[in-house]
Amino acid sequence: MKEECKKRMHINKITEKIKELYLYLPAWLIVLAAVLCIAVGILIGNGINKSDDSVKPEETITLDRDAGSTTKPKIDKTQWNLILVNQWNLIPEDYEAKVTYLDNGHAIDERAYSDLMDMLDDCRDEGLEPVICSSYRSMEKQKELFSNKIDEYISYGYSEQEAEEKAGQLVAVPGTSEHQLGLALDIVDISNQTLDESQENTDVQKWLMNNSWRYGFILRYPTDKSKITGISYEPWHYRYVGKKAAKEIYDAQICLEEYLNS
Ligand code: ZN
Repeated sequence: MKEECKKRMHINKITEKIKELYLYLPAWLIVLAAVLCIAVGILIGNGINKSDDSVKPEETITLDRDAGSTTKPKIDKTQWNLILVNQWNLIPEDYEAKVTYLDNGHAIDERAYSDLMDMLDDCRDEGLEPVICSSYRSMEKQKELFSNKIDEYISYGYSEQEAEEKAGQLVAVPGTSEHQLGLALDIVDISNQTLDESQENTDVQKWLMNNSWRYGFILRYPTDKSKITGISYEPWHYRYVGKKAAKEIYDAQICLEEYLNS
């Protein structure tokens, strides 16, 4: 009987322990869940850190510095569309213009062709009639124009030296004309095809002066910039510089020489 009693007491004790364990089960589950959450959190955290590492620290620093900087990036003067040609900067000896011919026989650098077409189309859509009277000229063509002008002055009785000086005032000395780049065009209004200051009053010029920058062209020789460009006012000569530069030049009301030195 004593043995029987002992056994029962033992069973009762075990039952008590199990009951205790059940009582604390929710607490254990909470602890387990918390441990799992922390473990998952650490794993995800590591994953995010790895992505951040893929961004180079240098890049992050550069971006931050640029964001707060006010200095303008330098203009790349070696870009094909920004080549400067004037009486002080001759066209490079090895320059080869790759041009596309228009239906009217004129030609322009193939990279500026579609912008020129857009500009002329939009100008015509306004009911205007622009006429290209000069475009790409080879070195040979420029030499021919220059020598013809010298001959003309000689025929008027000027000495050869005087004739050359006079010719240089009207026709660009070979090597100094932007037309040799294939990036310049003389455009006039069909109602007035004379290359003088009266061009500025034609509807075509008014439209081109206000809108050519949208297509990457600038009025290359403005009236108040002759001392810098070395060329007198030409309200018909447009030069392709690309849309970005054209907008900046137009907005700042400067000439190409000033833009390249800014
Ligand atoms: Zn011209």
